[in-house]
Amino acid sequence: MGHLKLQAVTKTFGNVEVIRATDLTIEEGEFVVFVGPSGCGKSTMLRMIAGLEEISSGTIAIDGRVVNDIAPVERGIAMVFQSYALYPHMTVFENIAFPLRVAKLAKGEVDQRVRRAAELLKLSDRLEYKPGELSGGQRQRVAIGRAIVREPSVFLFDEPLSNLDAALRSEMRVELSRLHASLGNTMIYVTHDQIEAMTMATKIVVLRAGRVEQVGSPLELFHKPANRFVAGFIGNPT
Ligand code: ADP
Ligand code: MG
Repeated sequence: MGHLKLQAVTKTFGNVEVIRATDLTIEEGEFVVFVGPSGCGKSTMLRMIAGLEEISSGTIAIDGRVVNDIAPVERGIAMVFQSYALYPHMTVFENIAFPLRVAKLAKGEVDQRVRRAAELLKLSDRLEYKPGELSGGQRQRVAIGRAIVREPSVFLFDEPLSNLDAALRSEMRVELSRLHASLGNTMIYVTHDQIEAMTMATKIVVLRAGRVEQVGSPLELFHKPANRFVAGFIGNPT
């Protein structure tokens, strides 16, 4: 579970093609980082995979099933955004449980999933707190918890750490890698931060102006950048 295939995917807003024919295969369990400058199409790519944005042409398949006409909630995907809206009047427990309540899961199952997520995210002793009583990092973890409990086969993260300070950001990087190791599902992580890409990814996809410039492991990109743009972006000055 968690295999993704994009074939000749394009996206046009008005008459501007913001994603040009993109082919991309993501294997089960990979931690893929989409990296590239602001406006290159990273969020649009994620939103198309999530089904929040229709594609203009091409196909997207998840686990062998074409999902072009499949609703977001039916895709087995959970997305964590940069600006995470928690419900201020609800406890941490209820915030994490929210998608399961909507899906009308049995109480025992909700309890079990929330507690398991809280443990993974080191929030077990904060379950009765309100978001206003948490640190920024803890609030971001609650947002991630809300995605985990749905047990998606694919996680999408859109610059989830960009609102955090530098110390917290590096702490959360380590935690997300740990989370990936323990859950083992496919993660696609969008950032404009090269350091995040180099430290977290099993595979990096470098985007530039709606086009995939190169796909490879951090080491491949560092040692064999396809062109000057990739070299400059990855930080190898050759
Ligand atoms: P990134 O996340 O890499 O910063 P985006 O995917 O948000 O880039 O945007 C890619 C391009 O598509 C940008 O030029 C942006 O202005 C444009 N774009 C994004 N969403 C829309 C929209 N809803 N309508 C028109 N243009 C959009
Ligand atoms: Mg974006």
